[in-house]
Amino acid sequence: ADDVALDPWGSSTVSDYRKLFDEFGIEEFDDVLDEVPHPHYLMRRGVIFGQRDYRSVVRALQNDEPAAVLSGFMPTGDPHIGHKLVFDEIIWHQQQGAEAHALIADLEANAARGLSWEEIDEHARSYLLSLLALGFDPKEGDLYRQSENREVQDLAFDLGAEANFSEFQAIYGFDGETDVSHMQSVVTQMADILYPQLDEPKPTVIPVGPDQDPHVRLARDLAERMRFFKVSKAYASFELEADERELVAEFSERLDPADFDDEQLRCVHVADTLEQTPLADLGVGASTLESVLTKLNEGGMEPLRPRTRFSDRRATEDAFDALIDAVEGEKRVYENHVDAFEIDRAEAEELAREIEVENGGYGFQPPSSIYHRFMTGLTGGKMSSSIPASHISLLDDPEDGYDKVKSATTGGRETAEEQREKGGKADECPVYELYAYLLAGDDDEFAKRVYDECVGGERLCGDCKEQAAQLMKEFLEEHQEKRAEVEELLEEADIELES
Ligand code: SF4
Repeated sequence: ADDVALDPWGSSTVSDYRKLFDEFGIEEFDDVLDEVPHPHYLMRRGVIFGQRDYRSVVRALQNDEPAAVLSGFMPTGDPHIGHKLVFDEIIWHQQQGAEAHALIADLEANAARGLSWEEIDEHARSYLLSLLALGFDPKEGDLYRQSENREVQDLAFDLGAEANFSEFQAIYGFDGETDVSHMQSVVTQMADILYPQLDEPKPTVIPVGPDQDPHVRLARDLAERMRFFKVSKAYASFELEADERELVAEFSERLDPADFDDEQLRCVHVADTLEQTPLADLGVGASTLESVLTKLNEGGMEPLRPRTRFSDRRATEDAFDALIDAVEGEKRVYENHVDAFEIDRAEAEELAREIEVENGGYGFQPPSSIYHRFMTGLTGGKMSSSIPASHISLLDDPEDGYDKVKSATTGGRETAEEQREKGGKADECPVYELYAYLLAGDDDEFAKRVYDECVGGERLCGDCKEQAAQLMKEFLEEHQEKRAEVEELLEEADIELES
């Protein structure tokens, strides 16, 4: 499968994602691919090329534990083959056992794009028909419209209390002229992303294009902010186990104040404070730890987020970790510490969530995300809904679909002779993309054959496009038949189709 994988960084329309990734910590999908049970062909072929924290979702799928997938569609036009990627991602996760949510971002379409409700109703219905026609099971999954989902709106209100204008300014470039409903549509979107966890915290994946990453980052941030906000209250009633207290005592004893500088002494103080079970006295404990963390950060230690208070065990561990790193020879104490806690970070987080939920909080896990490449437009450049020839709508007449493929740009050479000699440039060819993203379906051999024949000079663009155009026509015919078949299923689904 490696041979047919597209180079995620190679496309001319993908302007330097790598930089974005390096900067914001998105990881390569390849890092988790081997662990994914029955990976989708979009994963195998490198169309899905990035991920953030996706391993937690993979683990849940492997172990039959709760997991969720959610994506939203802004009903501003007809669904096209680019949307099909996202439909496929939702459906695949549903088939792997995840709870699947698909939402219609009608508030956003109305507030941010100014569409009328009639237009929104019509497009919404069309998106849902394609989603169902491609295999989404509405009996197992959840479909909703933002405007009809009261829980999402309540959650948006709560999340709004944790976000502020300067943040929106920094992330989305909002300014004094930005209207309030646009800001509301952002918190609503955040609420959508966290909605699958309302009943129960669980690993959740949001399939997106890389341009959507700011939303994912903000949602992850808010999830944690909500959690620590509530957890710090929950922890006030939580006591250290006896063995933990003993350990902290031992830890404190072994530290000789004469060996430490100022910052480290503050840490010792934290250890002492811990021994006194300051969990009942969060004010002192938290501010002390915070100043220690700040100092350690300033001293070039592993950065710790100041928001992470010692109400979180992980922060406590991090503080000890940083301290011990600073003091050679005390490794054993640290190891004892970790052993006695018999708890790893994942467990500590799980515990924090349980305590929070017991205390009426949300317990959100930061949502995960996977990133797919954008399809190149058939006319070159970006595929865009506003340029009909650049994309194929799922509602296009099959003959039109055929014609559009036939007139697409290719990665072919000037002459057939040159093509035979040097081979075509499949990596830069929108037609090859059609094969890889859609037309070859699950058949890796076929996709690989097209690729190899192209770059080997055995395949010429005329025949190649004829084959692709024929397959596209068949796909559209079949898809549109299925759309007609699932009409009834959609009527039965629990979603308002008219606003
Ligand atoms: Fe593209 Fe096919 Fe031509 Fe290769 S032979 S450049 S894949 S159209």
